[in-house]
Amino acid sequence: MPWRRAVVLARRTETATAATLLLHVEGQPAATAGQRVEIRLTAEDGYTADREYSLARAGEPDRAEITVQAIDGGEVSPFLVDELEIGSELQVRGPIGGWFVWRPDQTEPVLLVAGGSGIVPLMAMVRARREAGSKAPFRLVYSVRSREEMFYRSELRMPDPGVDVTEVYTREAPEGSRRPAGRLTVADVNTGGWPPDFAPTAYICGPTGFVESAADMLLALGHDARRIRTERFGPTS
Ligand SMILES: Cc1cc2nc3c(=O)[nH]c(=O)nc-3n(C[C@H](O)[C@H](O)[C@H](O)COP(=O)(O)OP(=O)(O)OC[C@H]3O[C@@H](n4cnc5c(N)ncnc54)[C@H](O)[C@@H]3O)c2cc1C
Repeated sequence: MPWRRAVVLARRTETATAATLLLHVEGQPAATAGQRVEIRLTAEDGYTADREYSLARAGEPDRAEITVQAIDGGEVSPFLVDELEIGSELQVRGPIGGWFVWRPDQTEPVLLVAGGSGIVPLMAMVRARREAGSKAPFRLVYSVRSREEMFYRSELRMPDPGVDVTEVYTREAPEGSRRPAGRLTVADVNTGGWPPDFAPTAYICGPTGFVESAADMLLALGHDARRIRTERFGPTS
């Protein structure tokens, strides 16, 4: 898969430490929701750093939209979030991945479980569903530290018939919340998700520890392991 030249077309602040970047990538094929790209930064002395980022939106050729969470002390992510400007150039390779994807011809119920920035490829699925006019029923359980750290907050709160969103706050719950702040529990997945009898396809994405514990919860609830797809972003933060 070739590296392609990419140019930053637009950037949007998502939270105090995360931004969405829209890139023009000449010649990149249209992506399927859930796929990712590799990003390469090259320093003046020729040193390169490559990292993977999920696509936040699928479907358009020559475009890559990513949302990056800046990791403290990280080599690449703080640069992408804080330093990259409109017109900056970088290299992109993709789209990559054929398993952690949702296609509009899937009609079964879908359960999305996101931990932090793991919302990115799942948001691409929610957007692909809307753009295709799909009637597949979606439920999203989004675990995030606080309301301020939510990505795509206004879009996720817009009514989208057939998409139910449950927000789970792990560090700070908004005033008046019935659920106190705390890690995702089996009860959260049970009430925010589908019963196993509905045979949903489940997509879980986030830090490694989060993905493993959410997958264990689905198995404990009786979901079929063959219908659980996972994507790990890296260490548990
Ligand atoms: C398939 C895939 C898709 C991904 N999609 C996204 C995405 O859509 N958005 C996004 O923001 N990131 C995503 N990531 C994570 C991304 O690839 C980088 O790992 C992340 O941006 C950190 O890179 P860095 O160079 O800043 O940190 P590094 O310099 O590589 O690491 C700095 C420190 O942070 C720790 N660290 C590395 N990665 C993480 C992490 N994900 N969480 C917590 N701590 C970490 C390291 O252990 C190290 O201690 C994805 C990763 C994978 C494998």
